[in-house]
Amino acid sequence: MGPACEGFLKKSFYSLDFKQLEMELSPSAAAILFNHHYKKRIQEQDYKDVSKEALSYIKENYCFKLPVIDKVVESEDRTVKFLIELADGSKVESVLIPFQNKYSLCLSSQVGCAMNCSFCFTGTQGLKRNLKVEEIIGQFLLAHQWLRENRAGDERILNLVFMGQGEPLHNFDAVKTACDIFLSKYGASIGHQKITISTSGYLPGLKRWSKEIPGVNLALSLHSPFSQKRDELIPINKKYPLEEVLKTIENIPLARKQFITYEYLLIKDFNDSEEDARKTGELLKGKTAYINLIPFNPFPGSAFKRPELKITERFKEVLDEYQIPTLIRVVKGDDVLAACGQLNSSPS
Ligand code: SAH
Ligand code: SF4
Repeated sequence: MGPACEGFLKKSFYSLDFKQLEMELSPSAAAILFNHHYKKRIQEQDYKDVSKEALSYIKENYCFKLPVIDKVVESEDRTVKFLIELADGSKVESVLIPFQNKYSLCLSSQVGCAMNCSFCFTGTQGLKRNLKVEEIIGQFLLAHQWLRENRAGDERILNLVFMGQGEPLHNFDAVKTACDIFLSKYGASIGHQKITISTSGYLPGLKRWSKEIPGVNLALSLHSPFSQKRDELIPINKKYPLEEVLKTIENIPLARKQFITYEYLLIKDFNDSEEDARKTGELLKGKTAYINLIPFNPFPGSAFKRPELKITERFKEVLDEYQIPTLIRVVKGDDVLAACGQLNSSPS
């Protein structure tokens, strides 16, 4: 089992955003700690310039334990999948996806997921529990530490995407605090545009988004413009229909040059026809939209299949006619079940 913070006496340092820490310590001590743990990413508490009193307060009141890496699988394309063990023995996965000389880190937000999408390996697990802030932050720190130890000099994590296990908007508070910590200029200082939260369209979370999530990117898993097909893929579409989801998204203020990403999972002979593409084009035409086409990634026991490349390319050509920027997502890490929707950490 991963180490736990002892009893209720200590709180995890990694659960606190800058404002909370500055209220408990002083603004200068909070800045030193954020810099030490999140910018320099040092785990030991050997701070410089922190008074003796502050240091003993920190050691008495905060716990610095992180989850542990249980298993690492490296793919031929340099994708790295981590199986991470939490204090209660639950496991989640995070994935480092290489591009140029940098990485995107795909983060999990829950153990399992309640949404039960028919095409998703995680969905077959059901929801076990929400991740705590420190367990989300822990994925980032552990991935960085692993890179430092195993791929020295090649350790830049540039983007964070909440596209691992779980529905991030179903664990809104923890995901929001984790974003605040990632964004803090005193710490990791990751740019707003470098963080993306992907949602299946969980409306209660989306309604809180514009007021509470500080300007990071949003991706909606669309997968079909037709309600009946979307119902089959994403069961919560029956409760929170696409029209309402799109209306809510349209009211989210966007920064200059910011887009909403619409992810479209392409499944052979299910939602990959010209008619599907045209309806999608009509639905998104004129919106500040960017479409990511994701060829279906098979997993053990899945009934769906991935379409051939020429079908995927044809789908993109149709969307091009509607002048919506569209990208076919290159599949990475699928040889080690680390691609989107292939994450499943239930005991086998
Ligand atoms: N719960 C969130 C984020 C995690 S899933 C969401 O659903 O958006 C991240 C992305 O992977 C989503 O777009 C999801 O639809 C996609 N995905 C799930 N299963 C997949 C599979 N088998 N193949 C390809 N993409 C998949
Ligand atoms: Fe959950 Fe997203 Fe998988 Fe659906 S696709 S079951 S929302 S993780």
